[in-house]
Amino acid sequence: VFTPAAVAAAPEDPLFGLMKAYREDPSDKKVDLGIGAYRDNNAKPWILPVVKKADDAIHNDPSVNHEYLSIGGLADFTSAAQKLIVGADSPAIREKRICTLQTISGTGAVHLGGLFLSKFHPAQPKPTIYLSNPTWANHNQIFTNVGLTLAKYPYFSAKTKGLDFDGMIAALRAAPAGSIILLHACAHNPTGVDPSQEQWKQIAALMRERRQFPFFDTAYQGFASGDLVRDAWAIRYFVEQGFELCVAQSFAKNFGLYGERTGAFHFVSAPGADASTAIQHIASQLAILQRSEISNPPAYGARIASKVLNDPVLFAEWEEDLRTMSGRIQEMRRGLRERLEKRGTPGTWDHITTQIGMFSFTGLNENQVKILRDKWHVYMTKNGRISMAGLNTHNLDYFAEAVDSVVR
Ligand code: PMP
Repeated sequence: VFTPAAVAAAPEDPLFGLMKAYREDPSDKKVDLGIGAYRDNNAKPWILPVVKKADDAIHNDPSVNHEYLSIGGLADFTSAAQKLIVGADSPAIREKRICTLQTISGTGAVHLGGLFLSKFHPAQPKPTIYLSNPTWANHNQIFTNVGLTLAKYPYFSAKTKGLDFDGMIAALRAAPAGSIILLHACAHNPTGVDPSQEQWKQIAALMRERRQFPFFDTAYQGFASGDLVRDAWAIRYFVEQGFELCVAQSFAKNFGLYGERTGAFHFVSAPGADASTAIQHIASQLAILQRSEISNPPAYGARIASKVLNDPVLFAEWEEDLRTMSGRIQEMRRGLRERLEKRGTPGTWDHITTQIGMFSFTGLNENQVKILRDKWHVYMTKNGRISMAGLNTHNLDYFAEAVDSVVR
């Protein structure tokens, strides 16, 4: 029998615990480097001007109502999301071998993809999905919940604070043929370390040889480098190489639409005579899964993103907003590195500027992180990850001083 009283309390989510401790700290010096959302130079949330514009236009549009979207979501949104990630001239679109469903942001897309693979991947009892070590913590929970078997591949080298490429390649080589490999398309969370284009080519060649299935997670397109095409390079390369693959796409970061839960899941089948029939079958099965989980996705964020993605003038303004966000973050990276190097802080700090995106793996250890919190009121996760978005011109000197002091 089910005895509700026997349900043990779950451990607190470490990130939410960190946020709570930050909120409750009365110090006026406190710095929040845990947050996974963009902040402006005054540590405030930033509504992208183009999002405000699209939002106002939707608000004043008398034809907008509150009906359900279809199971697959807003068609103008899913087609635009598709073009954005694989490229408007992608062979996958031309050959009608890509399908897209709107999802509950990136998390929902990762989940839908995991659920689909868990049900339809022929491996028995269940396929194994290889995750980078480390990875976004939620990957572990999501893929466990849908019953996939989890394995890890080495990713971060503590020594170079860059990519452990040899370790990664060796693990992929050893992974059983047909395994699912989760890849962060750009701005790897939590390390900020990405393979170079040359390394991506080698990863693709090996995965092709081993007939492995790429599952791309893209949460930072345009937010990482400021260039939408560049940040989609790896995915487009794999598609060009003829892979069968899937993509979980989030619009939380690049549109600043965190709470609107705007995302998409794409499945691309390999080129071939029956590719477009295969994709129709896959789309029909994905629709059934979606129906049982959420019935139909939320409209609001998709309307905003769709308006921007489908209007060339608004699209250009969006690219400008992306450059504002990524530019400020890159400036903070340069500023932090410069300050640490100027102080002669022990260690090397070039990784602060070679890493990319929202996060940086500083190399600070758990004890140093604890002193930063207890003595300096600086909040970050135990693994030494900082959110670059939490730094600004008002706290950069203070943070550099704090790091210098705990490293010495
Ligand atoms: N994947 C990765 C790697 C992420 O960093 C995030 C955001 N933290 C997501 C997926 C999903 O975020 P959301 O559900 O808010 O789109």
